[in-house]
Amino acid sequence: MSKGTLFVISGPSGTGKGTVCNELLKREPIFLSISATTRDRRNNEVDGVTYYFVSREKFQQMIDEDEVLEWAVYNQNFYGTPKRAVEDMLAAGKNVLLEIEPQGALKVKEMLPETVLIFILPPSMQELKKRLDERGRETPEQVRERLDAAAWEMEQAAKYTEVVVNDDLEACIEAVIQIIRKRTADVEIIERLLKEKY
Ligand code: 5GP
Repeated sequence: MSKGTLFVISGPSGTGKGTVCNELLKREPIFLSISATTRDRRNNEVDGVTYYFVSREKFQQMIDEDEVLEWAVYNQNFYGTPKRAVEDMLAAGKNVLLEIEPQGALKVKEMLPETVLIFILPPSMQELKKRLDERGRETPEQVRERLDAAAWEMEQAAKYTEVVVNDDLEACIEAVIQIIRKRTADVEIIERLLKEKY
C-alpha cells in the first residue's frame, strides 16, 4: 500500500486553526496526531483526546527515548508529536494532520521534506487580538504573550508550502480542503506513473 501524506497546520493562537482542523477531520479522510504537552489541562479538555497531558519528567523521558517526532517550547510549556502513531498511520496509507507551532513544523519539514505545511493567517492583528479577548480563555497577560508569539510565528509563514487567510471561516476550510485533495491526487498520479512499465 502507498504511504500517506503528512500535513501540518500552524497559525497564531486565536487564528481559528483549531476550528479549521476540527472541520477537516469531519469532512476529509485525515487523521489528527494527538500531541503530548506539559501545560495544564483546561476544563473542557480530555486527556488522550485533546492532548496527552504529561509531567516534565515524562516529557523528558519521551525525548530521551526518541519517542517524539519533534518537540518545542511554547509559553514555557513543552509540546511534542508522538512519533510511533504518526509513522504507523502514514505506513498504513493514511493522511495525517499535525496541528503544531512553527518551530516544530519546520523541524518536521527538514526531516520529512515531502510534508505539506499550511499556515493559517488572521486577517489583521486587530482581529487576532479581538478573537483572543473574546475567547476569554487567557488572562490579559497571556493574551499579550500570545500576540508577541504571533509576530514571530507569522515571520515563519513564508517558509510554508501554503498560506491561507482566515477571514471567512468557511472559505478558509474550503481552501485547506482543496490543498489536501490536490496533494493527495498529485501523489496518486506520481505513484501510478512510477508503477508503469517502460
Ligand atoms: P495550546 O496551548 O493553545 O493548545 O497550543 C499552543 C501551541 O502549541 C499551538 O500553536 C499549537 O499548535 C502548538 N502545539 C500543539 N501541539 C504541538 C506539538 O506536538 N508540537 C509543537 N511543536 N507544537 C504543538
